[in-house]
Order: sequence, then structure tokens, then C-alpha cells
Amino acid sequence: MNVASIPALREDIEVNHRPDGQVDVRDPRLFNLYTLDASYLDIARHFDGERDSQAVSEALADEEGLSSDPAEIEQVAQELDTLYLLDTATSAEAEPSVDNMAPYALVEATSRKLRVLPEVATQANWSCRMCGSCCHGLAVELSEAEEARIDGDLYDDVLDGEEFVVDAIIDPEQPAKRILRQRVENNRACIFLSGEGQCLVHERQGSQAKPDACQIFPYMVVHLPKGKPRMTMRTNCYSMHESWEDGEPAEEAIPEVRRLLETHEALKVPKVVPMFGRDKEWEHVQKVFDRVSNHFMANGVTPESLDEADRKYLRGRLAKSREKFGKSLLSYLEEEKKAAIPVEEGSLREYFDLLPRPKTPLEAMKKGELPPEPSQEVAHFLARQTQLVLHGFGPLNVPDAGMGLTMLLLALEACLHAVGRRGKPQRANIAFMAYTAPLLEVQTHAWPILEAIDPRFTRGLRESYIEELGY
Ligand code: SF4
Repeated sequence: MNVASIPALREDIEVNHRPDGQVDVRDPRLFNLYTLDASYLDIARHFDGERDSQAVSEALADEEGLSSDPAEIEQVAQELDTLYLLDTATSAEAEPSVDNMAPYALVEATSRKLRVLPEVATQANWSCRMCGSCCHGLAVELSEAEEARIDGDLYDDVLDGEEFVVDAIIDPEQPAKRILRQRVENNRACIFLSGEGQCLVHERQGSQAKPDACQIFPYMVVHLPKGKPRMTMRTNCYSMHESWEDGEPAEEAIPEVRRLLETHEALKVPKVVPMFGRDKEWEHVQKVFDRVSNHFMANGVTPESLDEADRKYLRGRLAKSREKFGKSLLSYLEEEKKAAIPVEEGSLREYFDLLPRPKTPLEAMKKGELPPEPSQEVAHFLARQTQLVLHGFGPLNVPDAGMGLTMLLLALEACLHAVGRRGKPQRANIAFMAYTAPLLEVQTHAWPILEAIDPRFTRGLRESYIEELGY
């Protein structure tokens, strides 16, 4: 870059200030999200395409009383140029990386009200044990009504004169949303989460004042093309392992969930779903999911039952992609350390770091090693988690239900490695959250796994993305 005249910042980038003094920068054309130090933007606002670093330094001193030497200004310009944030011919020609594009989800959200009561996965129990896991890191979007029912005056002790909402980018293709503020320095805990793991809104204003997403969690409802809607649970909850035997039966939550769905969104399953590259009626996909689910409920999740399911339902895809899965995820985790982290989605590393030795299972799989036999308790706990996933929506956020099923079984095998012979359901719960995150929560992380299972399919998918978006 020619530093004799520093190019201006691109006009189309969007900037949101965060309470921690950093800024989220969204590039709506290249679908990039960056978190930068606010001082970078303070400096870059004085780039006008004509001034050099000396003139920018003088403008900063005159207009804002800020001192910044020309070398520092050149470094900021260099870094922003590398991120294509300056108005240059190179940034104008840059094309988005397909990995940055919005998730290729098969399920849509719908706000259709429930006409009939949903059916629930059998034997599903859950009670909140105040672990607070859902109150960390997940962006809680607020509608105007949800924002209005929280009385900010009651929380002076925690708000410190600031608002409880901030604007944040959730989806690179959408404008910023209003979300609950998080304490970045405290593992992104919600501003209303007390040190004792209690929700202060619940405590001070009652459960109905909480945002709908908090009231409904971990329950979710899917509308199927035919038949009754289904209610299931999101499995990324630390309390799941503690309450899976003696928690409240999920069906007791139906009336409340139904009430919340008057305003909150449910998911809608399409009539036809690709399965191993072929379009199948949803009923067919559901039959396969039900058989896999029943197989694990009868046998638990063990190395043998995984092998049997692989031969019966996946034609050996699990065995074939095991080594590549380990290798591909290990290198993705390394790459991720160098890259900018998506602002609200979180990095895959953050999920994996919840485990004591997060890379060990991947290293074992890379060598083609089979997992050890888990305790019966763990084998059945994992079967139940699998049932919840397959009952509700399956791995339908992945572009192909068959590939999603393969990813689910690979994740289960990684869980068995992570838990070992003596590990408890608590460890299995965390491992399940981490290894299923790419297929259930953060689809942008699914690419390396899809690549490991079927590189040709994945290449085709990337090409269709590029075609669809006109790049
Ligand atoms: S409002 Fe309450 S339930 Fe919702 S995220 Fe914050 S602390 Fe958790």
C-alpha cells in the first residue's frame, strides 16, 4: 500500500461499539466480522484518501487532541488494508470466502402458532440446576416488547449506569440486533447473571419478565410437514446430565412452551430433505432417524453400537472418515487461532476448551484408534442426548441430513474418547456440547467436518454457494 496517501475507510462497513472498549466491524460485502481495538477506528476515521501518515497525525492532534505518531498510523493502515477495510482497488476486487457466508440451514424459523399440543421425546426430563451455561456467550436477542418489560431501574447495582442492551451483529447478512449486554471479562456472562448463578430478572421481576428465549430454553419446537409438532430440548445445557433422570418430565412444560410460542419462533422442517445427495421426503428421513435413535436407546452409545449403526445406516462412512475428521478438526482449531473470531457465534476452540484435554480425542481418531468402552451410565446418557437431537430436528442445520447423521456419529465417537472408561455423564455432557456444536449450534464450523466426510460433495456445495450468491 502507498502510505504517501492513505486510502479512506470503506463507506459500507458497519461499526458497533462494545462496552469493553472494542468495536465490532462488519463487512457486509465480504461477510467478515472483526473485533478491533476502538483506537484503530479513531485513527482510521481521519484517513481521507489524500493525507499521508504525518497529515493524519496532525489532524488527530488538532481535531481530537490525540497524539499518534506516523509510524503507528501506518501500522493501523497496513492492518486495516490486510482486512480489506480500506477503499482500495484490491478490496473492491476481493471476493468473499465461502467459509464466511451465512450458514446453509435447511430449517427455517416460523412464528406459526401451535394448533395442537406438541409431542415430546419419550422419557425426557429436565430441571434447571442454575449452572448458568445458557447465560454465557449465547446472544439473547430482544424485541421491543421484551426490552420494555425489563425495568432497568431495578438493576442499578449491576448496570453501573449503563444500558442492559447493546447492538450486536448476529448474522453477517443481517443488520445489528438488540441483545442483552454480556460481561466480556467474565466469560461473556449475561449482565443479569448473579455470582450465585441466579437470573436477577427472574429473582426481582419474576420469570415472565425474562426474554422469551430465556423462558423457553432448553425447549424447542419443530413443525413437521405432516403430523403433530414435536417438542425437544437443546442439548447445550450443563444441567442436562444432572437432571436427566430425576428432572421435571418435559411434557409438564408443554403449556408454558405453547404460551411462549404465541410470540417466539419455532422451527419448520421442509417437506423434502437432501440425504446423501438425494432428495428424500421428510418421512423417509424421519424413519432413518427413528431407527438410529431406537438402536442407541436399546444398546447405549458404545464402540460396538456405533460400528453397527455405521454399517447399517451409513455404509461405513464413519469408519472411512474417522481419521480425516481428527486431522481436519485439529488443523481447523490451529487455523482458528490465527483468524478473526466471528463476533457472536464464538469460536469452536471456546467449546473445546471446556474439556480438560480437548485435542486428545481428535489425535486418537486421526490415528484411527477406536474409543474405549464407556460406563453404562455414560452409554445411556449419550443415547438419550442422541434421541433428543434426532426426535426434534436431527442435524438438519447441515445441508444434507445423511451427512449430518454421519457428523453426529463422529461426534459420539469423539465423546467416547473424551470420556474414557471411567468418565461420568457430566464429562459426556460437555463433550457432547463441544463435538456437536458444528452441526447443532454453529454451522460455520461444519465445513472442515463435511470436508473430512466427503470432499467432493463439499466442493460442490461451495460451488453452489458461490453460484447462488453470484460470486
Ligand atoms: S436474562 Fe436471566 S435467564 Fe436470560 S441470559 Fe440473562 S441471566 Fe440468563
